[in-house]
Amino acid sequence: MHGAGDAPRGNRNRTGQGGSGQPCSTRPEGLLAPSQHTGPTGVARSGADSGDNALVTYPDQLRLLAVHAHPDDESSKGAATMARYVAEGARVMVATCTGGERGSVLNPAMDRPEVWERLPQIRVEEMAEARRILGIEQEFLGFVDSGLPEGDPLPPLPEGCFALVPLEDAAAPLVELIRRFRPQVVTTYDERGGYPHPDHIRTHEISVHAFEAAGDPERYPDLGEPWQPSKLYYHMSFSIDRTRALHEAIVATGAESPYAEWLANWDPARDVSHRVTTRVDCAEWFPVRDAALVAHATQIDPLGRWFACPMDVQQRVWPTEDYELARSLVDTGKPEDDLFAGVRSEVAVR
Ligand SMILES: [Zn+2]
Repeated sequence: MHGAGDAPRGNRNRTGQGGSGQPCSTRPEGLLAPSQHTGPTGVARSGADSGDNALVTYPDQLRLLAVHAHPDDESSKGAATMARYVAEGARVMVATCTGGERGSVLNPAMDRPEVWERLPQIRVEEMAEARRILGIEQEFLGFVDSGLPEGDPLPPLPEGCFALVPLEDAAAPLVELIRRFRPQVVTTYDERGGYPHPDHIRTHEISVHAFEAAGDPERYPDLGEPWQPSKLYYHMSFSIDRTRALHEAIVATGAESPYAEWLANWDPARDVSHRVTTRVDCAEWFPVRDAALVAHATQIDPLGRWFACPMDVQQRVWPTEDYELARSLVDTGKPEDDLFAGVRSEVAVR
């Protein structure tokens, strides 16, 4: 929930903490192949509830790649969507650009010297647990967290950090991953990062760059066979419309709303409600999303505002995660209720 006014503000810079530990590439252990969750590989079944829902599709041929800046971002943005598509048999991959090495410890229960000592390694372990809970595949792209600059004037970004790597180089590992994983759908943040962290803005930039470059044989010729994803989405779940709806529902029950202050301070100019093109119904997987969030124990306080809105209120009042369709190379109408709308028909005839 790195939205406007949203807590927690992960990955805060911490004075004196270097970006020592390198994130290592990790892959899922002991995970069933996605198709094993739902049935034998290649068994035809109906597509989900979208435009081409009457078509028989092969869900294990649907592939979603979600590009995120730090470990924990995948669990706060689009996690229930990912869990739903995994349950349907699709393959879902998260690319985590940095290791979150300059993140802070945001959970008081974890604010201990032994945690600070090995924070980069702990964040890799937390990511592995969240990956297991969500049933996804996940890889680190190997960049070093830029930290969130604070102060006036802002301090310079640390040497060698993700946000300072030239765009052509910063996008290269993502181009390679796109060509290897071959997703039809890519999700990322909008041009403002969804949250003003230099790594989030850089994540947007490399995602757009790689989306355009991965299908072009002239670009990055040494990084695998070209593959052009069909759709690019930006996360749009942290809208004023959603927050207001949740706020009003909580107030109606007579309880105190955790959102009153955020709503009062929300800058309408930064709201994204009008940009939403696609709402993915995933309320059934909100508990999975929350379990994945809790796995990021250094970043998430289980007693904090993340969990202040009762689950049944969320599921009843706003059962979707929301997106903006930023690019599409397939036919699809708007509004949509499925990230694979327009893709399922192409997969079905392959
Ligand atoms: Zn982040």
